[in-house]
Amino acid sequence: MRRGLGAKLWIPSLALERAGLEVVDIENLRRHYAPTLDAWVERFEQRWDAITAGGAVAGVGIEATSFGQGLVHHTLRELDVLLPDGSIVTCTPDNEHRDLFFGFPNSYGSLGYALRLVLETVPVKPCVRVEHLRFGQADTFFAALEQHCAGDADFIDGVVFDSHALVLNLARFIDEAQAPSLSDYGFERIYYRPLLDTPVDHLAVRDYIWRWDTDWFWCSKNVGAQNPLLRRLVFGRSRLNSRTYTRLMRWNARWGITRRLARLQLSLLGDGP
Ligand SMILES: Cc1cc2nc3c(=O)[nH]c(=O)nc-3n(C[C@H](O)[C@H](O)[C@H](O)COP(=O)(O)OP(=O)(O)OC[C@H]3O[C@@H](n4cnc5c(N)ncnc54)[C@H](O)[C@@H]3O)c2cc1C
Repeated sequence: MRRGLGAKLWIPSLALERAGLEVVDIENLRRHYAPTLDAWVERFEQRWDAITAGGAVAGVGIEATSFGQGLVHHTLRELDVLLPDGSIVTCTPDNEHRDLFFGFPNSYGSLGYALRLVLETVPVKPCVRVEHLRFGQADTFFAALEQHCAGDADFIDGVVFDSHALVLNLARFIDEAQAPSLSDYGFERIYYRPLLDTPVDHLAVRDYIWRWDTDWFWCSKNVGAQNPLLRRLVFGRSRLNSRTYTRLMRWNARWGITRRLARLQLSLLGDGP
């Protein structure tokens, strides 16, 4: 470059910087991708219910209608799968990708990623009436379970609290007018507790479907979320769900908190290495 030429050149980046803007090389834009992606994932997670149709099919989901409707993947009619080479194929039980259609359940994402699923659904009513039948012995509980699976219940699940407290839950769709009041287990009340001593309960259908999510079945007690004070002040309605517990589990797996505590406990008891 000849002496003095630079002074005459108009360099856009310098002008932009003088105007208070930051100018970076196109390569350096990558450093913006990470925060953008993090924010995108956070927004996505906030707006999405924990279990997805793709996850339930890839992981062989079973739920309270399965005694009548089959496992989640039994309701699958068609799916689009993103393959490792970047192509997307539509799989049905009788097209050229039927092997993938039948191999997909229980594949846990190892064969490809489901982008679109066509699933059979059943008509729903706005509310659900749940009957809790309590049994003191396993044999009578299982005999009743078998009998009701041949009956007219829309949903059936059961909880074994101990060998002498087994509860069979039979749920049926009802209209709103048939529900005297609707229970809310999304915040202060814990779903599994009234199963033992409340013969009948009523829930909105969405709350019934997500009934185990607030407390991750009963596991939320391991992180103190069933303590009324912590439940209200630390967790709050928006954090009482399996997304929070999954995050805590991942955090624990990364930092090994419970592993360290168990080791400490063993060494205090004199059983440590
Ligand atoms: C509160 C709660 C209640 C539950 N109740 C039941 C229950 O009643 N019955 C039951 O069976 N399970 C139950 N589960 C487990 C849950 O159904 C399974 O873990 C399910 O696989 C989770 O789906 P997900 O969308 O969260 O998938 P993830 O947990 O994100 O993934 C699960 C697996 O599926 C793969 N996967 C996810 N999405 C796709 C996709 N689109 N294409 C390909 N692979 C994919 C992932 O790679 C991973 O291997 C429950 C879980 C919770 C938290």
